[in-house]
Amino acid sequence: MNNATTYQNLDLLPIAGQWRKGRSGRKLDVVDPYSGDTLLSLPMASHADLDEAYQAARDIQPEWAAMGPTARGDIMRRVVALFDARKEEIIDWLIRESGSTRVKAEIEWGSARGITQEAASLPGRMHGRILPSDIPGKESRVYRKPLGVIGVISPWNFPLHLSARSVAPALALGNTVVVKPASDTPVTGGLLLARLFEEAGLPAGALSVVVGAGSEIGDAFVEHPVPSFISFTGSTEVGRNIGRIANAGKHLKHVALELGGNSPFVVLADADVQTAVSAAVTGKFLHQGQICMAINRIIVEAPLVNEFTQRFVERVKTLACGDPSKPETVVGPVINQRQLEGLKAKIGKAKAEGATLLLGGEPQGNVMPPHVFGDVTADMEIAREEIFGPLVGIQSARDAEHALELANGSDYGLSSAVFTGDLARGVQFAQRLHAGMTHVNDMPVNDEANAPFGGEKNSGVGRFNGDWVIDEFTTDHWITVQTAPRGYPF
Ligand code: NAD
Repeated sequence: MNNATTYQNLDLLPIAGQWRKGRSGRKLDVVDPYSGDTLLSLPMASHADLDEAYQAARDIQPEWAAMGPTARGDIMRRVVALFDARKEEIIDWLIRESGSTRVKAEIEWGSARGITQEAASLPGRMHGRILPSDIPGKESRVYRKPLGVIGVISPWNFPLHLSARSVAPALALGNTVVVKPASDTPVTGGLLLARLFEEAGLPAGALSVVVGAGSEIGDAFVEHPVPSFISFTGSTEVGRNIGRIANAGKHLKHVALELGGNSPFVVLADADVQTAVSAAVTGKFLHQGQICMAINRIIVEAPLVNEFTQRFVERVKTLACGDPSKPETVVGPVINQRQLEGLKAKIGKAKAEGATLLLGGEPQGNVMPPHVFGDVTADMEIAREEIFGPLVGIQSARDAEHALELANGSDYGLSSAVFTGDLARGVQFAQRLHAGMTHVNDMPVNDEANAPFGGEKNSGVGRFNGDWVIDEFTTDHWITVQTAPRGYPF
């Protein structure tokens, strides 16, 4: 797709209100993970660019916040309209830049649009309070106000949505934003959003995007004195470091860390196998398994394990692999060669540790065919570590208690799922799972604009969406007014 109405010059960065080339002197090649074609060669941002972006965000923030709830909501509504008008353009970029299959690109487009629509309502939901006071004549007020400048770091797997879920609410609530998208996805992780917000009328400088090398602007982005909040989505390893350095400097700041997962998918003996298999296939293979909530471990109560495994493998065999732009493709490319090599190593390790390979095959380019392992035990690497690819192991549980023990036996706690024929039992099981999110009789891959998204344990701290994001991106200011003379003790 390339015509006069599509956004052009995507090698330019929106920095401090101007579209211009990054000044680091280094270029980033943005590569289609399926074809290997170079889509863009983009001059990267320097430390000085980052500084300008943050300063401009700080300077314009009071003016933006003063625009009032309706004006800020209107900009969100115009962005939603542009999501609709530019749907094909956005989907095309998601397919080409991030290797999204068409179905995943449509889901991502829909969730980024949905979060922006939800953001349109946030300015009107930013409520203060008047508190009762024990002091006669005292008015005790709590004002809600934006935090100021928010720095957003996003990963490559759902780049548009995972940037939008911070950018849209942060702006709607009166903050200004600087985004650092992942190097694999600078367009869908930041530059497209900046174009959409600019076209919708966002004041220049309220949203900057710095695409740059971690070595040049990574730490500086986090340590910089201007942002009062760093919203990070990515791996646990990098997130831990972000958390550490964010508050190592002179200026303390809030940090939200949305990190890796190891979602268990539990099938109890009274579950409907066919439904569970369908949910497991999508919950594992959507976007080649490169989703933080993707099924990482399938845990089946012993009486069902053979039937479930056989039906699951039969279904997975039928999944079309290859060109992500073809509507029938389910498994497209993984993001890059490094990720592919990591998956090959995980497959080798699973074999070496004694898991049984039930389905496999050789990669074609970056397309890794689905791999399914049986006879997996909790101590194996594929059960312990996040996989982030089209590869899964099935574990057998002696009974429901054992299934719960296996499911909870992880350092991660993002999403999870349990299948059962008894919904009340499912909810009781869910309440005992150590996770931020659990879905009874559904896959663990679920995100809705009005429901709290986030994890526990090493999956992170912080909550997105709905009222929870208002708490994240605003703060309280207690202001009292003494309306009548009061007595003082001395
Ligand atoms: P990553 O941690 O390697 O990178 C995430 C982002 O951090 C990228 O933009 C990267 O450029 C940036 N980064 C890396 N080092 C940095 C540094 N020193 N300073 C500043 N920024 C730095 O993760 P990834 O490979 O892009 O994404 C995959 C991971 O993200 C998986 O672990 C997945 O589970 C996780 N994830 C979590 C969620 C969630 O909501 N919990 C959502 C999607 C992905």
